[in-house]
Amino acid sequence: MKQLIDPYNRKIDYVRLSVTDKCNFQCFYCRPSLFKQEFVPDHSYLTVADIEKLFIVLGRLGIRKVKLTGGEPLLRKDIVDIVRVLRDNSYIQDISLITNGFFLEKKAFDLKEAGLHRVNVSLDSLNEKSFQKITQTLSLERVKKGIVKAYDVGLEPIKINAVLVKGMNDEELFDFVRFSIHYPFIVRFIEFMPTGFTQAEHQVYYFSNHEALLRIKEKFSLTPKIQKEQTGPSSYFKVDGGKGEIGFISPLSHNFCDKCNRIRITAKGDLKLCLFSQEDRNLLSILRSSHWEKKLEETLIENLRLKPKHHDLGKGQIGNVQSFVNIGG
Ligand code: SAM
Ligand code: SF4
Repeated sequence: MKQLIDPYNRKIDYVRLSVTDKCNFQCFYCRPSLFKQEFVPDHSYLTVADIEKLFIVLGRLGIRKVKLTGGEPLLRKDIVDIVRVLRDNSYIQDISLITNGFFLEKKAFDLKEAGLHRVNVSLDSLNEKSFQKITQTLSLERVKKGIVKAYDVGLEPIKINAVLVKGMNDEELFDFVRFSIHYPFIVRFIEFMPTGFTQAEHQVYYFSNHEALLRIKEKFSLTPKIQKEQTGPSSYFKVDGGKGEIGFISPLSHNFCDKCNRIRITAKGDLKLCLFSQEDRNLLSILRSSHWEKKLEETLIENLRLKPKHHDLGKGQIGNVQSFVNIGG
């Protein structure tokens, strides 16, 4: 049995696959108003057939977990077919999807039927005004309905992601904690990363999870959750009397790169070994060539040698000039 292992002895078993770079939201931290996005031309997108082939090889190399992302993955008309080919891949054990929730009410049932296991939903504010300020949309209620529907059809556990932005939603910390008390969801606070921002801009808006945890502990009683395996920059707590949990994703204040188990593949098939690495290797032409299985396997193994040991965002390194919407968050 083959297994992708990088030069730092990290076992890679998780792929975050972006299926589109398009989005119907314009989140402040991801697609700021001055951000000029160049979209992938339609013919360069990985098709369902490309994705099927890609994961045949990735599965043989030890990939077991896939997260579908974007852009907004539910904008892809064939998203249910993408889930289905992953479900039919005997190597893949966990299929999840991260969404802004706008189309979730409409699509949750079909996604579940097709084999999706769970969803993460971005929800940066529980207040319509701040939600509008952050996302440039008036869709808070619609997103909430999507979350309820996802829960009803069993796309669990449901994780709610909130990027903390100083001056925009940091005042809502306690409201989010209460949300996790009232509902059986895992509310995760995510540190704002400087993708496509200058260091000075980032400093204005950055709110550390360290600070968030200190504030929450002053008001609520928390019990840390023991995680089976620590492979990401996250820690979880049960709040006294709560139905759900809270979590902290802290790539800046706590660097977990030594436990990294993931690679990313963009909507046009670029292999990204780290969110912040600049070197991409396009896999699309290989997937559409003859002898693709052998070539793809060799390319993946060879390129994994370039996976960086860590990023230096905590030390002031500025992230990839590309935003998450291009790479796949
Ligand atoms: N559109 C979907 C959504 O919003 O959930 C999926 C794609 S989005 C790029 C994936 C995740 O990246 C979201 O949870 C979003 O909050 C996060 N994200 C985007 N830009 C970020 C940034 N600069 N810092 C931290 N997280 C970011
Ligand atoms: Fe779109 Fe998600 Fe980026 Fe917001 S975070 S702009 S919803 S891709």
